[in-house]
Amino acid sequence: MIVEAITVGTELLYGQTVNTNAATIGRRLADAGLDHQHSSVVGDDHGRMVDAIRLAMTRADALIITGGLGPTQDDITREAIAAATDRPIEFSDDYADRLRHWWERRGRAMPESNLKQAEYPQGADLLENPKGTAPGIRLEVGDTVIYAVPGVPVELEILLDMYVIGDLRDRSDSRVVLNRVLRTYGESESKIGELLADLYDDGNPSMAFLASAAEIKVRLTAKAATTEAAEAMVAPLQAAVEERLGSLVFGLDDETVETILLRLATARGWSIATAESATGGLVASRITAIPGASEVFRGSIVAYHEDIKRTQLGVDADLIAEHGVVSEPVAIAMADGVAAALGADVGVSVTGSAGPDPQERPVGTMVIGVHTPDKTMARTVSLPGDRERVRTYTTTGALHLARLAMSGEWWHGDSKRGRWV
Ligand code: ATP
Ligand code: MG
Repeated sequence: MIVEAITVGTELLYGQTVNTNAATIGRRLADAGLDHQHSSVVGDDHGRMVDAIRLAMTRADALIITGGLGPTQDDITREAIAAATDRPIEFSDDYADRLRHWWERRGRAMPESNLKQAEYPQGADLLENPKGTAPGIRLEVGDTVIYAVPGVPVELEILLDMYVIGDLRDRSDSRVVLNRVLRTYGESESKIGELLADLYDDGNPSMAFLASAAEIKVRLTAKAATTEAAEAMVAPLQAAVEERLGSLVFGLDDETVETILLRLATARGWSIATAESATGGLVASRITAIPGASEVFRGSIVAYHEDIKRTQLGVDADLIAEHGVVSEPVAIAMADGVAAALGADVGVSVTGSAGPDPQERPVGTMVIGVHTPDKTMARTVSLPGDRERVRTYTTTGALHLARLAMSGEWWHGDSKRGRWV
């Protein structure tokens, strides 16, 4: 069973509305283990919609069309489906009565244009919509089934759940799609791709690479009749990837660096504090977003101005004068300082030049320090991009360096480990 989505609306092409419906449909289909191979966006134009529907029917067993079922002139999905499948439009007196009652119950006169919503391509079933007046449509054309559902996101979701996903499952050989995500940190996407070149497979199971804010995810996907069978297909590939990547892999599936950091701190019985200049509290924000952070997180000092670095963190004025505020000695002093000031076992510090104007060092020069009961170290990196990107990547980097420092890997591992990308 191959399913294809068509999202309708000129506003989607213009970027005025973000196409969340396409994402919703994609997620629901993936969760149900249904094959979703194409998704297209088409404007509110009769000819182009007919083309899109006809093309989709040549390659899919089921179409989900969303949008263009409203009462206005630009809502032409019903007409386009009728034209694409060579059948006339009919009118449901029964649904027209329901529409009138819907308006009467609300004590309002129904604009006649609403009757358009009682029209349907010949042979279609109308799918009652509990959240709005536009019904959905289901039409069987030979071996293909076409569903059309309203574009309003809540209406789309409820109609998918009520009429579409279950129906598609019943029509298909049920299959499970299992995704396993291995999260890596420390190497570039291209390097990870090279390391796994001989394990790469685009069949079943398949491998894909996804880069997100300094981390690279390796996604393994298996499709099988049962979860156990899919698991058995993924397991050997996962073991091979884990062996190849070693400590570059830091987490699986939903495990984020901050959850792992908190777990490490709990296991060690260590508390954490942060001293942030260029990131202005973003590192603390990521940590405190995790439920249970209060068990190990002491607090943060946003030491933005040089005075605050001196007075609150005890960074020596001579040290700043000698090395500059964006420097490893200052990051180390900040990390030591915040651990002492806030009574924490681990201190994480950030200082840098996030741009757009350079501060002492070129824009994108960031220094992260980590103090642990064993050692304090700092690392300088140079990041590309604008202020927003530099701050985001630095925040993720600081969490990872804290993780590596707490597990001892930063200083005990080989020189590659924990290298910053
Ligand atoms: P309906 O079929 O329910 O009448 P429509 O396309 O005719 O939908 P619009 O007036 O175009 O109705 O859109 C209704 C609302 O749904 C708008 O707020 C619009 O932003 C939202 N919407 C439509 N399509 C999408 C989409 N693909 N993704 C996210 N939101 C959408
Ligand atoms: Mg529309």
